[in-house]
Amino acid sequence: MNAMNFINGIFVDAIDGETIPNINPATGQAIGTLSRSNHRDVETTVRAAATAQQDWSALSMLERADWLDRIADGLEDRKEELAQRESTDTGKPLALARRVDAQRSIDNFRFFADFARKQAPEVFEMSDATNIVHRNPIGTVGLITPWNLPLYLLSWKVAPALLMGNTIVAKPSELTPLTATLMCEVARDVGLPSGVLNVVHGYGPEVGQAILEHPSIRAISFTGGTATGRHVAATAAPMFKKLSLELGGKNATIILEDADLDVAVEGSVRAGFTNGGQVCLCGSRILVHASIADEFTAKLVEAVESMTCGAPEHESTQIGALISQDHMKKVESYIQLGIEEGGVVLTGGTSEMTGQVGPSPEGAFLRPTVIDGLKSTARTSTEEIFGPVVTIHRFNSDDEAIEIANSTEYGLAGSIWSSDSNRAHEIAKRIETGIVWVNTWLHRDLRTPFGGVKNSGVGREGGAWSLGFFSEPLNVCIKHD
Ligand code: NAP
Repeated sequence: MNAMNFINGIFVDAIDGETIPNINPATGQAIGTLSRSNHRDVETTVRAAATAQQDWSALSMLERADWLDRIADGLEDRKEELAQRESTDTGKPLALARRVDAQRSIDNFRFFADFARKQAPEVFEMSDATNIVHRNPIGTVGLITPWNLPLYLLSWKVAPALLMGNTIVAKPSELTPLTATLMCEVARDVGLPSGVLNVVHGYGPEVGQAILEHPSIRAISFTGGTATGRHVAATAAPMFKKLSLELGGKNATIILEDADLDVAVEGSVRAGFTNGGQVCLCGSRILVHASIADEFTAKLVEAVESMTCGAPEHESTQIGALISQDHMKKVESYIQLGIEEGGVVLTGGTSEMTGQVGPSPEGAFLRPTVIDGLKSTARTSTEEIFGPVVTIHRFNSDDEAIEIANSTEYGLAGSIWSSDSNRAHEIAKRIETGIVWVNTWLHRDLRTPFGGVKNSGVGREGGAWSLGFFSEPLNVCIKHD
């Protein structure tokens, strides 16, 4: 199918008529095209969004919450199609796309609708005056998102942005345009007012850059890599745009010597290899207490070798294709680097080492890989690979585990596995990161803050944090008679 821009309530080609082929990474085959937009398309879109903003912001938040529920209903009606499109675009297992991507995209709209209904007025009484805080919309906001969890991450921004009365110019990754298109079809079909939600497809440096630079787009919410995030900040900050940056990670999974080993192995596999390791929260560095390291590692390798890799459409598939051949080459180059840095590949490796694991030689398939023996300071151990590769590191004390965990430029997430939750909690408080899970991973309550420190980002999303980002508080102080 062809993913066209959605501007002012209708699907249109890019003004210049240019397109980009859309490739299914599991087969290497083109499955359609998407519009290749540029600054001219963004200009048209911003005008439509600005026009729509007045009426949209005149609705009450509760009326806008009802619109979110209508979109959630529309997505729910097309949930299977949503999962199919996500799996085709990304190469991820269809079962995962159903369980995670499709479900969470629907949940994001429902969550923010319900959250809005629970908001209490913000009133601060003084002895002689009353302060009333109003949450005004920012105006037109730009949303830029990556390919790993396409609609999951886009809807996580769209829902609160709409709720707070903003209109949207969104750019999904050019690698994964199909579910943003489905969301726009739903928005059109449920009758969302024209111009409120707009999507322009194309390359980051072309259409994304035009969004960053447009003076009428007053806020940018960006999720993607740290290098791109740095460029986004350098472009948007001098224009005093409001900025939210959700960036890369190199997260530690810490296994204490009192952990239930079977539970820790299962958790480490899930944290390391969900979505082929292409989740910013993935635990790509496993830090294990030296006294249990050999037993843990043997069990981990056994569990990883039993994972089913292959065709995304098979129900039993746990690891599908990576997002592209280019990305697979990048991941393979890190495995090679790991070997050059002194690492030992315990299982997995490059395609050359493992042979074809997918249904098609053109598919971007790679077996899950475990590397042992690397220094915790090696590039392979500290740089974000964003693929099915974990490294194992040993520690002898809680202090040493914390030191290794904190030794990268990133600080997004992590997990600790222990039978002593108080001890794990004490360690968690000393990790420089945004989220730590104890004896679990990716267990999300959407009311809680989500985001990173250091080079993993600026700001938080989730619940009140999202409503705060997508609004401008206005305090009215009324002096009593
Ligand atoms: P990316 O290359 O940084 O791209 C992210 C988005 O930015 C894409 O839509 C991209 O468009 C766009 N872009 C690229 N250059 C741009 C420019 N000059 N101006 C405006 N937009 C531009 O990241 P990715 O490879 O898609 O995603 C993987 C990264 O995202 C990883 O580092 C991962 O950790 C991170 N991530 C972070 C979170 C989080 O919540 N912290 C969640 C998921 C992923 P094109 O696709 O057209 O280049």
